[in-house]
Formats: sequence, C-alpha cells, structure tokens
Amino acid sequence: MSIALKAENISKYFMAPEKFKVLNQVSFEVSKGEFVSIIGKSGSGKSTLLYILSTMDTEYEGVLSLNGEKVTGNKQNALASFRNEHLGFVFQFHYLLPDFSCLKNVMIPALRLGKLTKDEIEHNAYEKLKMLGVGDQALKSASKISGGQQQRVAIARALINEPSIIMGDEPTGNLDSKNTAVVFDIFKQLAAEHDKTIITVTHDNDFAEKSDRIIEMMDGKIISG
Ligand code: ADP
Ligand code: MG
Repeated sequence: MSIALKAENISKYFMAPEKFKVLNQVSFEVSKGEFVSIIGKSGSGKSTLLYILSTMDTEYEGVLSLNGEKVTGNKQNALASFRNEHLGFVFQFHYLLPDFSCLKNVMIPALRLGKLTKDEIEHNAYEKLKMLGVGDQALKSASKISGGQQQRVAIARALINEPSIIMGDEPTGNLDSKNTAVVFDIFKQLAAEHDKTIITVTHDNDFAEKSDRIIEMMDGKIISG
C-alpha cells in the first residue's frame, strides 16, 4: 500500500512568551486511502501539527513527505503549488465568501489553479455540490444557507482540485449531531470509494472511533496510534 504522508521526528518550539517545545519527535505514517483521526486534550499540539502537515508552517525540525515527495525545505512558491494540487482543507469555520454564490465559492480554488476553462470548472463545481447533496443550493449566496449546508459547500470547495489528501481541523466542531454524521459519511466515502486520504483533528470521540485509525496526542507527543 502506498504511503500518503510520512512524518519523521517532527519537533517544534514556540519562543514566546518563553521557549516551549510544542511538538516532540512526532513520527507516523498514513497510507493512501486511510481515514485517520487525531485526538487529544486541548493544548496537546494537534492544530500545530496539522499546520505543519499541511505545509503551511515550515518552522520545524524533522522531515515531512507527502505522496512520496519530501516537502521539508521546499520554497514557499513550490509549497503553495503543491498544496493547490495535492491538498484540500476543511476547517471548523467554513470561511466561505458570504456574498458569493456557493457555486462561485467552490470554483475559486480551481480558477486559481488555472488548469481548466471556466466552463469546465463550473461543471465540476456543480458535480461536487451534487455529490455533497447541495446541488440545489448552488446559486444561493453562501450566507443564505444553513450551517450544515455551508460545511458541505466548504467540503466541495476542498475537493474541487481533486486533492489526494484532505485535512481537517475540527471540521465538525461547529455542527449538530445530524450534520456531523453527514460530514463523517462523506469523509468515509471519500476514503473508501475514492481512495482519498483523510487526516482530521477532532474533539468528537464518536467520530474518531468510527474512522479507520485514531492517533492520540498528549503534550506534543503521539501516545497511541
Ligand atoms: P490543540 O490544537 O491540541 O488544542 P495547539 O496546537 O493549538 O493545541 O497548541 C499547543 C500549545 O501551543 C498550546 O499550549 C498553545 O497555547 C501553544 N501555542 C499555540 N500557538 C502558539 C503560538 N503561536 N505561540 C506560542 N504558543 C502557541
Ligand atoms: Mg486545535
């Protein structure tokens, strides 16, 4: 089975207010098509780790490889294009542009990537919205749909460039249990049927239990998983 993510001895310090080792020799691998949950108490370093895994933070020790490519040490430009092509993100807050239509919100990352025509991108954006059960909301402003629908639109946006790895920081943190179940099922399907790799930080133990694997953090270290 091929490896989607390999973290080798990732350590990180915060210097302010005082020197503090927030991540301590974190090593793990995630296989392609695996759905992994990262859990642990507040302050254990989950968001800091995910920020490094997503290539957004480059201030760390150790080596990160994604889809077999070592990304540690790459320049910001190279990282930005790597992210555009390989990674999708879903956050606790959807960060949709409220006055733009759902369709336009989903199209934006693909327009930025610039590989397809506007018509092709629009077609693909409709397909993603339909797949997530919100095709009928496509032309509404993002601010005019429910929270659960907004999170589905945000997932459609994360998927528009066909990333192989999807990362989430508390993607269901703002949802009720019904919508949490919807989002869980979407992630499960993306992993099982589309071979996407899902790495998501969650507070929700039920959500974590149902995923393929739980990685538990404490004080900047992996303690199980
Ligand atoms: P989690 O997501 O598990 O709740 P975080 O990764 O957000 O934890 O934070 C881990 C620790 O690092 C916490 O003690 C937090 O206060 C600290 N921390 C987070 N960001 C910064 C920062 N920019 N500067 C200094 N300390 C930080
Ligand atoms: Mg966090």
